[in-house]
Amino acid sequence: MNFRQTMKLFSVIFVAAVAAFIAWPRAAMTQQTSQKSQATPTIDEYQPKSTLVTKEHKIERAKFPFIDIHSHHWNPTGEEVDRLVKEMDTINLRVMVNLSGGTGERLKNTVAAMKGRYPDRFVVFANMSYDDLNTPGFGKRVAARLEEDVKNGAQGLKIFKDFGMELKYANGQRVHVDDPEFDAVFEKCAELKIPVLIHVAEPSAFFDPWDYHNERWEEVKEFPGRARPPAKYPPFETLMTERNHLFAKHPRTNFIAAHLGFHGNDLERLGRLFDANPNVYVDIAAVLAELGRQPYSAHDFLVKYQDRVLMGKDIYEVNEYKWYFRALETRDEYFEYYRHRHAFWRIYGFQVPDEVLKKVYYKNALKLVPGIDAKAFPD
Ligand SMILES: [Zn+2]
Repeated sequence: MNFRQTMKLFSVIFVAAVAAFIAWPRAAMTQQTSQKSQATPTIDEYQPKSTLVTKEHKIERAKFPFIDIHSHHWNPTGEEVDRLVKEMDTINLRVMVNLSGGTGERLKNTVAAMKGRYPDRFVVFANMSYDDLNTPGFGKRVAARLEEDVKNGAQGLKIFKDFGMELKYANGQRVHVDDPEFDAVFEKCAELKIPVLIHVAEPSAFFDPWDYHNERWEEVKEFPGRARPPAKYPPFETLMTERNHLFAKHPRTNFIAAHLGFHGNDLERLGRLFDANPNVYVDIAAVLAELGRQPYSAHDFLVKYQDRVLMGKDIYEVNEYKWYFRALETRDEYFEYYRHRHAFWRIYGFQVPDEVLKKVYYKNALKLVPGIDAKAFPD
């Protein structure tokens, strides 16, 4: 070995030693971090990124023109309505149903701002005023006001969730969902041939104990007011019983139970409600994650009850409709939902046949809501 070869050998050994010196403690440290010193994340901190590689279809525009049966726009200005129509056109939203029309003068103003500008693009539902709830003859007066509202352009009645939960008579008695005082109102709807879109109760988890087993734990943490503890509210099942009695005692009135009637987590139960009451329909507003977590059941349910389910979104946000299109129109798998507090799980597309899609998107609404121009929709 000459001098040069010796030097080469020494430098190789030296470099190897330095490399080992640097690498060994790091390797030891990494192992330690992954095994011991990493703290358990909170559920907010734990945001695993999916490594799944599978087909994705980003659908920005519905396959067919559609009717959103469940939207809210309070006292919209002409300018807002102009902007709304431009946005609606980008996603193929043909007719928007504003459930927040109010009654009397307010209803007239809302109809003027929306239908006055775009007669074919909007539908306005009236609401009840409870101001004179404690004056005898209330139900008949509401029915008369509703008849006026319909003359002034209302095409349906929307009942908000305070009905059955918060609304009380002056003596402290809760107004039950099937309170006979309101019979005149529901019979008037049948006579006027307008549907009643009714929101009864809330997701059943809001009525359950707020513990670590509660599916809506995160939402109740963020919005404690959404909890429905038994000390202040009737139980979920009481509200369901009253609601089902209401549906049964007005068979000539068409009811659209908002949010899958809060049976999105039990579609067989919803099926039984449909079987027992041919006058009952539902919208899918804000409960898409319920269908998206059970794609096989959701698909079969929609095929079986294709005449009873209507497209709706609830909170208007033009960029959020694409989740509905993707769930209804594709078989995409395991994609993130747009509202984490509603669903910490990912959802799946349950692609329904075109004939079913058309019914959900517009045919069922055309059948239920009077006065929408059917010519704007395919056969
Ligand atoms: Zn709503």
